[in-house]
Amino acid sequence: MERNEIKALVRRNIIELEPYSTARDEYQGTLGTFLDANESPYPTGYNRYPDPHQKALKEKISRIKGVSASRIFVGNGSDEAIDVLMRVFCRPGKDNIVAISPSYGMYSVAADINDVEVRKVQLSEDFSLNVDDMLAACDGNTRLMFLCSPNNPSGNAFPVEQLVSLADNFKGMMVVDEAYVDFSSLPSLLGQLDRLPNLVVLQTLSKARGMAALRLGLAFADEYVIKLMSMVKYPYNINAAAQKLALDMLDEDISPKVEQIKAQREMLAGRLGSFGCVKKLYPSDANFILIKVDDPNRLYEHFLSRGIIVRNRNRVKGCEGCLRITVGTPDENVKLLEAVEAYEKGDIR
Ligand SMILES: *Cc1c(COP(=O)(O)O)cnc(C)c1O
Repeated sequence: MERNEIKALVRRNIIELEPYSTARDEYQGTLGTFLDANESPYPTGYNRYPDPHQKALKEKISRIKGVSASRIFVGNGSDEAIDVLMRVFCRPGKDNIVAISPSYGMYSVAADINDVEVRKVQLSEDFSLNVDDMLAACDGNTRLMFLCSPNNPSGNAFPVEQLVSLADNFKGMMVVDEAYVDFSSLPSLLGQLDRLPNLVVLQTLSKARGMAALRLGLAFADEYVIKLMSMVKYPYNINAAAQKLALDMLDEDISPKVEQIKAQREMLAGRLGSFGCVKKLYPSDANFILIKVDDPNRLYEHFLSRGIIVRNRNRVKGCEGCLRITVGTPDENVKLLEAVEAYEKGDIR
């Protein structure tokens, strides 16, 4: 797809939208006597509205990711980016999205809220992807395609060639959710943005970066797409405290923590795979492991009785019998393994 073809995918009312202009849009200086935003003049540390464009934060992310700031959208979690994409591209009651299944639940929730049809394409039994099935699910009204890689809850990353081939052949916006990319053996698609104007890469500060409570999700895309998303978001979608804290926390080199989690993941996979109650252990490129067990509800309750909370995915189509276990600290992982050992011995409270 060419850059100039994207406009045809955008809702007419969004192209014509006159976005809200904040006081800080109309006067951009930082020094002076500010009597333009009806703020309290008494300093509390938070009496002034935050930067609606998150300029400093985007500059820092730009340096870390090697993507120009004009190609970065910062949302109140990835969830905001997902919802804003729906509102930019999908006409309620008319357009549809295509997404893999099983996958992250927010794609269909955001679509449902926006009255956008969801076409789910089931992954194969080993959670691999069929590119032709994805393309066959599309029609002239398919505006967005959602691929999560590494995928939640299966944990596998899809081959880059498959994702690129989808973006090349799909006549809509291809959204690749890379929430777990820091833990993956496969590279990010960020390097493909130049070549693929219909690509949107989602990342988040919630997982490897350890800022889930700050609610900061990132979208990387063509400048035009980012401009549209910025028009549609709430003007002050990222509060000042979150912007400031993220700026400071982004100085951390997270690679030692990421490496430890990856090493612990491999340790856990090895150990879990040796238990008789574990029928299948799916390879993971993320910070969690999906296992298929003999009696998921019983093992889930057993974990709970020992104060360990995992995610029961037994009722998700394609994940029957499965529990999803996040990789914790070495101590937490030992506690988990001890619980499985007790379960195997029939030592159940
Ligand atoms: C956790 C997760 C996210 C992160 O969402 P935030 O709103 O940024 O916290 C995004 N996508 C997937 C697939 C996830 O599992």
